[in-house]
Amino acid sequence: QWTGISEELRYEIGDSNHKNWIAPLECLGITDGVVRFRAPSRFVGDWVKRTYHDQIFARLQTLACDVSRMEFIVGDPTPRAAVAAPATSKAAQGDDLQGAPLDGKYHFDNFVVGKPNELAHAAARRVAEAGPVTFNPLFLYGGVGLGKTHLMHAIAWELKAKRPDLQVLYLSAEQFMYRFVQALRDREIMDFKNLFRSVDVLMVDDVQFIAGKDSTQEEFFHTFNALVDQNKQIVISADRAPGEIKDLEARISSRMQCGLVVDLHPTNYELRLGILQRKAAQFAQSYGSIKIDDGVFEFLAHRITTNVRVLEGALQRLFAFSSLIGQEVTLDMVQDCLSDMLRSSERRVTVEEIQRKVAEHFNIRLSDMLGPKRTRTIARPRQIAMYLSKEMTSRSLPEIGRRFGGRDHTTILHGVRKVVEMRTQDTQLNEDIELLRRLLES
Ligand code: ADP
Ligand code: MG
Repeated sequence: QWTGISEELRYEIGDSNHKNWIAPLECLGITDGVVRFRAPSRFVGDWVKRTYHDQIFARLQTLACDVSRMEFIVGDPTPRAAVAAPATSKAAQGDDLQGAPLDGKYHFDNFVVGKPNELAHAAARRVAEAGPVTFNPLFLYGGVGLGKTHLMHAIAWELKAKRPDLQVLYLSAEQFMYRFVQALRDREIMDFKNLFRSVDVLMVDDVQFIAGKDSTQEEFFHTFNALVDQNKQIVISADRAPGEIKDLEARISSRMQCGLVVDLHPTNYELRLGILQRKAAQFAQSYGSIKIDDGVFEFLAHRITTNVRVLEGALQRLFAFSSLIGQEVTLDMVQDCLSDMLRSSERRVTVEEIQRKVAEHFNIRLSDMLGPKRTRTIARPRQIAMYLSKEMTSRSLPEIGRRFGGRDHTTILHGVRKVVEMRTQDTQLNEDIELLRRLLES
């Protein structure tokens, strides 16, 4: 019977909501009018109760007329419903201080740290220690799919484990707004205020969302100040720096900069490689171990550069495909199986653009970059441009050579190697290169 209800709900709420919230529930049956479900976590249970209670309840009532209540229990399948029930019904009476559910996959131990995200990671770790509040707020920003949400969930998980006494509230700015609007409509604004002012740690994801939404911004500002005054930790994320969020009130953006502002830089090749290796180990647990040819990770790390989520999706598809046909993952398979992703992530940066930007940056003439001069002030930028052309475009060495005034591919290779070598010793050079890369990518 539950299966029937569950299927009906799928139509109503859509596949992905169904998959996340309804499918994981196990119906344990009905006693004394109470229908019990087992949820994989308290979050799922609470979320379902908050979001789908009425839809589920109405259907249960049509099946059995003496249904009075639903209960969600969490945990192992031994029949301990009687013990678990009081705990959940207490939660049901308590305030609804639940934020958005936390993703069980987002922990610190599976967050791969590299140069581009080490600062953000360190800051997140510090907040998760729950020591004295050192920087408030912590403001994390960076492009899509670079790990902001992952880090925030990791903080929340860690805090919950270490300090179960703390009220940790994580939610997206969109949910903040939604609740605020709901509270206004239901004339429960005092409850709303009390609720948000009573947490110990508030985490708001994607805060750029409330920019331009005036009354929500206003309320957020007050909540923010009230919590900071009580010395409660706040963690915020956004897709760009506070000062760059359009239509975000100046006083809010300046308050956001009072703590620590750190950005997640675009991933670099090494980090992507690290992430691929880590994720492959994870996928191997669900798909069984699959042989992956040499060069596959390197290829993916070169070609899928913008968004870690896409990189992950690519790998997952390869695993699924390979386990389906029972073959190892080869470079040929990658080309076939991921042709759509590879096409769309084809970099738009051209060798010519790279040459222009690099020349500009080092203040040399483009004609010199392409010409024969070999003085250091010219040869060095030229090599950097060769290196970036190799890294950022899909041109082959001979193709790049042709674009550098008809140079030989061995000259290009030499230049690329030279830069790789220098990068290990010269931090200034490293910074120049990262800067150029960011300029070119934006
Ligand atoms: P954002 O919130 O910045 O858009 P997410 O945190 O949602 O990005 O990350 C997108 C996906 O990429 C998630 O599945 C996340 O686990 C993964 N991811 C991003 N960065 C890393 C990293 N450094 N190590 C492991 N996984 C990562
Ligand atoms: Mg996010």
